[in-house]
Amino acid sequence: MIDRTNCPAPLPATALGTPLSPSAVRVMLLGAGELGKEVIIALQRLGVETIAVDRYANAPGMQVAHRAHGGAMTDGPALRALIEKERPRLVVPEIEAIATEVLQEIEDEGIAEVIPTARATRLTMNRESIRCLASEKLGLPTSPYAFAASLEEAREAIDGGIGYPCLVKPTMSSSGKGQSVLRGPKDVVAAWNYAIEGGRVNKNRVIVEGFIDFDYEITLLTVRAVGASGEIETFFCEPVGHVQINGDYVESWQPQKMSETASAKSRAIAGSITENLGGRGIFGVELFVKGDQVWFSEVSPRPHDTGLVTLASQRISEFELHARAILGLPVDVSLRAPGASAVIYGGVAAKGIVFEGAYDALSVPGTDLRLFGKPESFVKRRMGVVVSTGVDTAEARERAQRAASRIAPKAWE
Ligand code: AMP
Repeated sequence: MIDRTNCPAPLPATALGTPLSPSAVRVMLLGAGELGKEVIIALQRLGVETIAVDRYANAPGMQVAHRAHGGAMTDGPALRALIEKERPRLVVPEIEAIATEVLQEIEDEGIAEVIPTARATRLTMNRESIRCLASEKLGLPTSPYAFAASLEEAREAIDGGIGYPCLVKPTMSSSGKGQSVLRGPKDVVAAWNYAIEGGRVNKNRVIVEGFIDFDYEITLLTVRAVGASGEIETFFCEPVGHVQINGDYVESWQPQKMSETASAKSRAIAGSITENLGGRGIFGVELFVKGDQVWFSEVSPRPHDTGLVTLASQRISEFELHARAILGLPVDVSLRAPGASAVIYGGVAAKGIVFEGAYDALSVPGTDLRLFGKPESFVKRRMGVVVSTGVDTAEARERAQRAASRIAPKAWE
């Protein structure tokens, strides 16, 4: 018999297979944190063979995948060798720090399909390229902005029009890393230094953004999936509202109430940017809203952390939506119940920590707990999340926060 274990399965795009057999549909997750873990679980429920890759051992997604590999995904040759060895049908980036030029080669050479597209992963990993696409090419409303490659240029950008308050962020960073709000000229040096320390690569480049005094911010989870027409269509989940502290999400809820005008504008913006990025899958489009005004902030071509709430609030979570969309299956973005999520931080710096209080937390009605299983805790590392439903988002938020406050992470003694 021919050994086909290293060949892509020659099945029609929407046929599913049997994992660990020649018919397997293999999917490789690049990044296996809490979001990747949920995508892997969703894929496994559809009988997909999953391969998790992350830079550290026992990352959450590695604990539930069929196979796991450790290593930096910024190492282009190593990444290519791994993809060639595993021959997945789909390569699904879950993080930004990836050698995106290798993804482009993989896509161009037809070795695997990159989700949603290699171009989308490249453009969205850099604040400069995605901002230029959104604002200059697509004409979407954004905060005023400029790029700076030195402290002097940053000062000039602020004095030359952006003004105070404003934000300085590394062009290559996420989750608020290296990002600060500047209230006046005395904040510039510290903000520059912090951005240079916090950036991933491309160290000496920052974006300076005018501060938007929004009423609220949302993530509009936008799915590109094969619709009833047989073509790729765009589906919008109910808007997710969230609270960020120091650029990191602490609480989210769904649905966020919006005016009809703001809702229509949000969909138009999300539709425009995701159509340009192309491919199939879910996108987290981050928007700022003030009255009927809406500004585009960012987009992630993958499930979004604030969308963890959908584990409770939607009939099909954002992770299952992603799994279905990338496999060419139909999606259903309907809301199940108003919901909320509340983040559980490590609170301690230690390995193999314990979580006390789960009984009390889960005694809160309509509440679920997800502990990610991260091998090491830091004070501000997201270690878990509580998701709750309620008659409205106010009740769901109160329940999620009450339950999260009952979880006590502790070092193991
Ligand atoms: P980011 O890393 O760009 O997603 O920013 C993280 C958070 O910082 C956002 O979710 C907002 O709460 C806040 N933020 C970022 N940019 C701006 C801005 N131009 N005006 C006001 N708040 C902002």
